[in-house]
Amino acid sequence: MKDGAFHGSDQSQENVLVRTERLGRDFSIGGQGIRAIDEIDLTIVRGEFVALMGPSGSGKSTLLNILGLLDRATRGLYVFEGREVSGIDADQCAFIRNRKVGFVFQNFSLLARTSARENVELPLLYNGMPRRQRQSLAAAALAEVGLEHRLGHRPNQLSGGEQQRVAIARALVSRPVLILADEPTGALDSRTGLEIMKLMRRLHRSGNTIITATHDPNVARYAETIVSLQDGRITGCRRMHTAPHRGEGTLSAAMQDGIS
Ligand code: ADP
Ligand code: MG
Repeated sequence: MKDGAFHGSDQSQENVLVRTERLGRDFSIGGQGIRAIDEIDLTIVRGEFVALMGPSGSGKSTLLNILGLLDRATRGLYVFEGREVSGIDADQCAFIRNRKVGFVFQNFSLLARTSARENVELPLLYNGMPRRQRQSLAAAALAEVGLEHRLGHRPNQLSGGEQQRVAIARALVSRPVLILADEPTGALDSRTGLEIMKLMRRLHRSGNTIITATHDPNVARYAETIVSLQDGRITGCRRMHTAPHRGEGTLSAAMQDGIS
């Protein structure tokens, strides 16, 4: 969909973080091919907050995984920070991913018998950072998500929303150029889920580039751009120039108090 290709605001070369052209990913199950995503043309600039929205099975996770270099496309072009990464091998993928991308998952994926601070320190272990520095960066990231009073708590001593905040701090701590969140509110009650979206919006406003996947329009509306997916293809793109106003349409009471 060349003409319908979605483009963010400032298109200058150095501002483009992610660009895909006719990206596709096939899976095969029992000899049957499935086009999980197809013909994806997407351009995302630094500092954007994008929601990939679509029903279950529409290809959101598949696309997110490729954008985050967890998986590779079957066809098409993927340019990340100006470098074509479509053809690189798994080791190179991992190298870039570990330095450049932070992930948040639906089920938090925290280590169970490990404190919040140690969970957040994990990404910093890879590059051999000294312990004191790790601890201080992890504490700072936890403070950023409002958990400075929970450093020593283990996941089972935290609420679902707090666990997701720890996971977000872990995604932030290595200061990645891109934060990806796959259904980050999917395991939370709606009020807590919206708290998480408010936090993501705050992180976006402080300069982070975020791409989230969700099936829920009430979650997607926290993003500044909504890209709709259906059957593996982009079917629409909407930029929100202004934040939604109070009392609008289907907003729940819990949501309204956070809308500015
Ligand atoms: P969503 O995240 O929007 O629910 P997915 O990206 O998980 O959608 O899946 C898109 C399509 O690709 C679905 O039909 C799904 O069954 C298929 N799919 C996803 N991952 C795999 C896989 N590892 N093997 C086979 N099929 C897959
Ligand atoms: Mg999914």
